[in-house]
Amino acid sequence: MSLMEKLDGGVSLLAGGTDLLVAMKDGRLRHRTLVDIKHISNLGAIRPEDAGLCLGAAVNTRTIARSPLVKERFPLLSQALAVLGSMQIGNRATIGGNLANASPAADSAPALLALEASVKLVGPQGERLVPLENFFSGPGKTVLERELLTEIHVPSAPDQGRGVFYKLGPRGAPEDICIVSVAVFAVPDASKRIWTDVRIALGAVAPTPIRARNAEKALLGQLIEGRTVEDAARLAAEKDARPISDIRGSASYRRAMVKILVARALEQLSER
Ligand SMILES: Cc1cc2nc3c(=O)[nH]c(=O)nc-3n(C[C@H](O)[C@H](O)[C@H](O)COP(=O)(O)OP(=O)(O)OC[C@H]3O[C@@H](n4cnc5c(N)ncnc54)[C@H](O)[C@@H]3O)c2cc1C
Repeated sequence: MSLMEKLDGGVSLLAGGTDLLVAMKDGRLRHRTLVDIKHISNLGAIRPEDAGLCLGAAVNTRTIARSPLVKERFPLLSQALAVLGSMQIGNRATIGGNLANASPAADSAPALLALEASVKLVGPQGERLVPLENFFSGPGKTVLERELLTEIHVPSAPDQGRGVFYKLGPRGAPEDICIVSVAVFAVPDASKRIWTDVRIALGAVAPTPIRARNAEKALLGQLIEGRTVEDAARLAAEKDARPISDIRGSASYRRAMVKILVARALEQLSER
């Protein structure tokens, strides 16, 4: 922190470098000083925290995807990180870098949003805990102010909760930057057959990764049946998603895919 203060903003943090170095090579970014944060020891651990989890920001995404603790407590997160880039990328790319880079298509974001994670930011003024939903402020933008993202806190989730992650890419390969991604975490009340706690998060269909609040609201307290699934999927596509057209897909294709993937995820969760 004192180094960041001393260099007065003229410093950029280097974690795995899979976004930063590419941008520097392309000439999109120039930095006076790079500070490598990978070997700061307390950024490198995965720890249980009550029934939740604390992830050091410099842990690479493949290590998290393969962690037995993460697989056991938060299989949704394992599932999402298992398809974040190739093996080589996953071995370099850190979870903190994936969030701080703030791509709307970042693969870790929808799962962490659905799990209601928070991020710890540390700077010269002290530290603060920010819900991930308030962390992103636009494409490539966050609320970081000369701060280091040090930890990601994932709170405990109900035992009966189940999650599903879908990533739609141009080739269906893990290396794809997604056209649309969907993470759904739900705790359906199996005895009464109603939706009690449903969290739907979407990637690559808005300026930031988002929660699909309209779709979630429509499900709460409703019967688990085809009609409610269809209504929620339509709301996610029409009211929550605000996609643009770009080289990976048109806005209308993205909306159509949100509808299909949200419905598919909800159906899968209701079958269990
Ligand atoms: C070939 C290729 C394939 C890819 N495929 C995918 C994919 O499938 N899915 C996906 O989501 N991404 C993908 N990416 C993007 C990239 O790998 C990820 O976003 C990665 O997680 C970034 O982490 P990093 O450690 O490499 O970050 P870096 O490149 O080191 O840093 C990225 C940015 O975050 C800042 N930063 C890093 N750590 C911190 C911190 N702790 N606190 C504050 N700021 C910080 C840096 O200063 C920089 O601005 C791909 C990239 C490449 C090159």
